[in-house]
Amino acid sequence: MFLLKDIYWEIRKTKEKGYGVFAKKEIKAGTVISDYLGKVINIAEYDLDNDKKGLYLMYFTDQASIYPNLTKPGPHLLNHSCKPNCWVYIYHGHTLFFALRKIKRDEELTISYLLSPKDETCNPCNHNCKCESKFCTGTMHLSKNKYKRWQKFQDEEKKKTKITKFVFGKNLQKLTSYPRIIQNNPIYQSMQ
Ligand SMILES: [Zn+2]
Ligand SMILES: [Zn+2]
Repeated sequence: MFLLKDIYWEIRKTKEKGYGVFAKKEIKAGTVISDYLGKVINIAEYDLDNDKKGLYLMYFTDQASIYPNLTKPGPHLLNHSCKPNCWVYIYHGHTLFFALRKIKRDEELTISYLLSPKDETCNPCNHNCKCESKFCTGTMHLSKNKYKRWQKFQDEEKKKTKITKFVFGKNLQKLTSYPRIIQNNPIYQSMQ
């Protein structure tokens, strides 16, 4: 679900990456954009191999993932970039995306998918990156170093927040309130 009013964004078709989310108006640095809502799936019971749309699953807890409603516009439409202008902030277990810097009108909003380093389990790998940034590594998989750094940061953050209540098979509910601005943290830049 987008938390940012729709005067700020719209869905457009991209050249090579299917749909994407674009700024209709300038978005200030730190602005919270969305909450990744959807059905709470028990990953132990989920047949990932037989669902191509499984790539939209978002980590929630070690047992649960979020499966978004693909018929509605939502943060699952944000494309990956090696130099994204949005980043992830975990708030009561919910995955929020926020603007990492000022985003100009007509810029595409992008995130890092923060995929684990490429190994033999990702085969065939369809995570080639077409972000066209100067820093493009050609893959959406993170390097080992970056991945480790991110995991460490997330583990520390996890200790500080409480995950909201949820029920397997039901929709994750919107929170009663959200932060409006996320403060910058050097870790975000160091991941790019
Ligand atoms: Zn892959
Ligand atoms: Zn790239």
